[in-house]
Amino acid sequence: MFLRNPITSLQGVGSKRRPLFERLLGVRVMDALMHLPCDLIHRRFVESVTQARAGEVVTVIGEVISHTPPAYPRKVYAVTCFDGRCFFDLVFFHGKASYLQTLLPLHTKRLISGKLERFQDRWKIPHPDHIEIPGERQLRGPEPVYPLTTGITNKCVTRVIQSALSRLPPLPEWLDEEKAQKWPRWNEAVQQVHAPQTQQDLDPQTPARLRLAYDELLAHQLSLNLTRRRQQVKAQGASLRSVDRRKAQILQSLPFSLTPGQESALADIARDMASPQQMLRLIQGDVGSGKTLVALLAMAQAVDAGFQAALLVPTDILARQHAAKLAPLCAASDMRLALLTGRDQGKKRAQILEALKDQQIDIIVGTHAIIQEDVHFAKLGLAVVDEQHRFGVNQRLALTGKGNNPDVLAMTATPIPRTLMLAHYGDMDVSFIRDKPAGRQPIETKVLPLSRLDEVVAGIERALKTGAKIYWVCPLIEESEAMDLAAAVERWAALSQKFPGKAGLVHGKLKADEKDAIMGQFINGPVDILIATTVIEVGVDVPTASIMIIEHAERFGLAQLHQLRGRIGRGNQASICLLLYSPALTAVGRKRLEIMRQTHDGFLIAEEDLKLRGSGELLGTKQSGLPRFRIADFTSHPDVYGELFAMANKDARRICQEDPTLSTPRGQALQLLLSLHGRADAAKYSRSG
Ligand code: ADP
Ligand code: MG
Repeated sequence: MFLRNPITSLQGVGSKRRPLFERLLGVRVMDALMHLPCDLIHRRFVESVTQARAGEVVTVIGEVISHTPPAYPRKVYAVTCFDGRCFFDLVFFHGKASYLQTLLPLHTKRLISGKLERFQDRWKIPHPDHIEIPGERQLRGPEPVYPLTTGITNKCVTRVIQSALSRLPPLPEWLDEEKAQKWPRWNEAVQQVHAPQTQQDLDPQTPARLRLAYDELLAHQLSLNLTRRRQQVKAQGASLRSVDRRKAQILQSLPFSLTPGQESALADIARDMASPQQMLRLIQGDVGSGKTLVALLAMAQAVDAGFQAALLVPTDILARQHAAKLAPLCAASDMRLALLTGRDQGKKRAQILEALKDQQIDIIVGTHAIIQEDVHFAKLGLAVVDEQHRFGVNQRLALTGKGNNPDVLAMTATPIPRTLMLAHYGDMDVSFIRDKPAGRQPIETKVLPLSRLDEVVAGIERALKTGAKIYWVCPLIEESEAMDLAAAVERWAALSQKFPGKAGLVHGKLKADEKDAIMGQFINGPVDILIATTVIEVGVDVPTASIMIIEHAERFGLAQLHQLRGRIGRGNQASICLLLYSPALTAVGRKRLEIMRQTHDGFLIAEEDLKLRGSGELLGTKQSGLPRFRIADFTSHPDVYGELFAMANKDARRICQEDPTLSTPRGQALQLLLSLHGRADAAKYSRSG
């Protein structure tokens, strides 16, 4: 099919410049067609150059009167023309005589178009954009202007795209009826977007552009969902329906009841797990919303049904903390819990692996150590991934590969705007926990210059007398690791001197057991001030901590700040967060801190972060896997495309349900859509699935 041919099949893409064209346009004809104009030029047709103004882009017919080759090498080549009223010169730098003589033979008429200039009392058109034989082509309408790269002119790109447009094959319609009614057909849409007549035609909301953007998003969402469905088809069979004995025991032993958000997330999970299809569910809940407990209850359901469960977490500290918190609840409900991290080696590790294989362990909590190749489960029924954004898809797959398509529960506190969510997790079902456990005290956030450090220290002194536990966070980034570390150590030394025995320091360079020891002393020991680099960022839960001080807060991303602040306000005492900044604060930096001061809503913070940074690097985590869309560029138009994205997601799910093998006539058209957008794999899966 023509649209899937390499762009070299188009006029104007020679082998020499092929790499350039491929980089700019993509490798296939379809890709070139998705390169949309970003602007347009009007070429006014004039009878004579005297009717135009200098600087205007005009089209005029002139008779070639004379050629004036350069008098010496560095001069220009001029061709003088006459339009019936006035002479004007076409000017060429490095003009080749033979080429220009064929292009502009003496005493013939030529249609010439370009930017008109006035120089030394003469009209000139330097390097005209077009020189044609009159009547051959219309050069009167507006022309599209494309995004370019060095080495390729707008004229080249236009020619290539025109060559593709002149050969568009008729395509079957893949839109549903409602959308087919309101948007142009694919062919028309493509023609329209490449022939803008006015600035309005460049708007992302024209029906033609909307349609092409929707197509792109639908292809993406459909391929995600088909691939997922294929996995599910294989995963038939494991229904983790249970009597819920342990779940009930845990709920009874809790000193509090679940929040409505936890309840409803849990209901979603229970339903998914009981169904024979593989669960793939993401829980989005702000920091402190109580996701760990939800995970535990889900794991209890798996154990009740006779399976094992695994909880994968990103850091050692967090693994230890989770295991410690879950241990009493597991004991109360008759579940055997084990912890496995990179620190467990040799005999200890061998014992755990053995027990896991024999189903002597019901729940394993651990870091990457639990996805190593030699770790085997007897019967893994549920894989929970905490702080999901810290892991890649491959790690998730490494864990689920250890069971026979176990249910998957992913959890994240990093709220992402809806559009990005769909791009990442379009195949996942999502539950939100929007509330927090009752009785939480609000956190007061203050923004202060570092120069007021003395006041801060005095404040700490007062707080310590009332028994407060304090986090003191120093930035540490790879690029300036040594210096940052030195600064953290220095801060620790200064605070130790002021408060002997009360300050502890944790950072990534410490040995694991050293870290543990200090964390332990902070949780219930003499250490009241924990100086830390961002190792505490993820998930740590010390309910008695009520003060968070972040030094050089301007160096942190919004999400990191939000995560860090989420470490306090977990108990029942009022909490305070101090954001200390250095005076060299950029406008964006100031804006960030101001947002932190104003809101505690993680979702709002995520939206603001997206606005401040663009979608490329979001919330402290590089969203490397984010697909790039050529038309639906939602960083520039989040509202328009966000809505379209949600629509595509919904439609893709419906299609997967109604026609999972894409075999109806519309289904076949959709297969074509997938292959045009380079997602033929998904179409293939749908057939074999
Ligand atoms: P996150 O969602 O950030 O992972 P955690 O699971 O660490 O939050 O929970 C934060 C704290 O809230 C924990 O100390 C946990 O025991 C407590 N918690 C969880 N659910 C409730 C609840 N329904 N009522 C009161 N406290 C709760
Ligand atoms: Mg957590």
